[in-house]
Amino acid sequence: MTETMKQKRLVVLGGGESGVGAAILARQKGMDVFLSDAGTIAPRYVEMLSKYDIPYEQGSHTPELILNADEVVKSPGIPPTAPMIVQLVERNIPIISEIEFAGRYTDAKMVCITGSNGKTTTTLLTYHILKKAGINVGLAGNVGRSLALQVAFEHHDVYVIELSSFQLENMYKFKANIAVLLNITPDHLDRYEYKMQNYVRAKFRIINNLTSKDAIIYWQDDPVITSQLEAISTEAQLFPFSESLEGDDTAAYVNDEGDIVFNTPVESFKMPRADLSLNGLHNLFNSMAAGLSACLINIKKEDIRKALSDFEGVEHRLEPAGTIDGVRWINDSKATNVNSCWYALESMPKSKTTVLILGGKDKGNDYTEIEHLVDEKVKAIVAMGLHNEKIIEFFGDRVKVVDTHSLDDAVAACQSLAQSGDTVLLSPCCASFDLFKSYEDRGRQFKDAVKNLKK
Ligand code: ADP
Repeated sequence: MTETMKQKRLVVLGGGESGVGAAILARQKGMDVFLSDAGTIAPRYVEMLSKYDIPYEQGSHTPELILNADEVVKSPGIPPTAPMIVQLVERNIPIISEIEFAGRYTDAKMVCITGSNGKTTTTLLTYHILKKAGINVGLAGNVGRSLALQVAFEHHDVYVIELSSFQLENMYKFKANIAVLLNITPDHLDRYEYKMQNYVRAKFRIINNLTSKDAIIYWQDDPVITSQLEAISTEAQLFPFSESLEGDDTAAYVNDEGDIVFNTPVESFKMPRADLSLNGLHNLFNSMAAGLSACLINIKKEDIRKALSDFEGVEHRLEPAGTIDGVRWINDSKATNVNSCWYALESMPKSKTTVLILGGKDKGNDYTEIEHLVDEKVKAIVAMGLHNEKIIEFFGDRVKVVDTHSLDDAVAACQSLAQSGDTVLLSPCCASFDLFKSYEDRGRQFKDAVKNLKK
């Protein structure tokens, strides 16, 4: 066999959704594939690897089986500082992401969505609009199945892809058709040498390789996004959105009559803001981003209007959990940082009628960002965590704070504090790992406890 005919060896690091998908696609393309996971591979992925006869290892990385790769697909969860990655870099072996790999084998239109907050909501909302309009659309990235697996076995004309900064890190030639940048606030800085600019650079990889036929949809009031856009050059068409009209080029905004105006060369229309199914300022932005993407994909205005008003929302994001004796219970368990809680409080009634559940594993929170909203809207805080001292100290002088250490106690405290017309909001600002397995576990236990109150 001559060198040019040598079968390509592709090594996949990480045996989760993206890694297993990439391995299967590589196998389908006739490559010599090997998958290695330093941890445990879930049984359903082991089954898939066996089904496609893909050699794999778990529990450790064997260097001899990895360092002979022509190319490596790395799971986004593995940091660039992991010893195996360092060795690959030293040997100049290219490391790419699953999306970069899968992108080589499809010419579908790519709508790619990133941001510090709102990615999942906007991705699912965009998918909902396109799907309802009859587009043959796939959902991929952080939500749904891996892009690679879909590219291997299905045909879609459009993909809506949620991209985290981790996924974007190893993307080079991949090209989006529509890139959505929702917002950039400090997050995951531990992965970026505590340098905000490194994080911003990773997020901005979403606009790499865009041409004049492509589009960037972005939040015009985000100073980080706008200053970075000014600093770089791009041929792509720009579609900024904002709460109000900021200039001639604002592509989506709310006018004085309370209508959202969408204005693109492909489709232009208005709809009452009150018709959006998702509440809150942050969801106005998410809806604008999704609506603009849909306009650029030629979806008819009637279809966009309808889909923006009948989207059922995403679990654990300002999710209604029931109304009992006139008290509304809301599950916003995904609010694991202070900024997301800010948006949740922003969407609450102006009077002091919210009982707020805060607490969990603190990631170095600075609660100053929400203190004014707490003063304006919160009648009591129920702290729910192993260590509530910081919350009690910060808010104790401003509002009543009840100290609890379990979900049942927290829900019971809320029930005695809230009266008809009030809202109980679980929007904890913290990760869940002190009392729960995950934010999903926290949200589900909360919803179950609320259901039990009905009995
Ligand atoms: P992500 O996928 O980026 O984590 P989600 O859609 O899961 O985002 O929403 C996570 C939390 O962030 C929600 O609970 C909500 O409170 C908040 N959020 C959603 N959209 C936005 C936005 N556009 N700006 C700021 N915060 C947002």
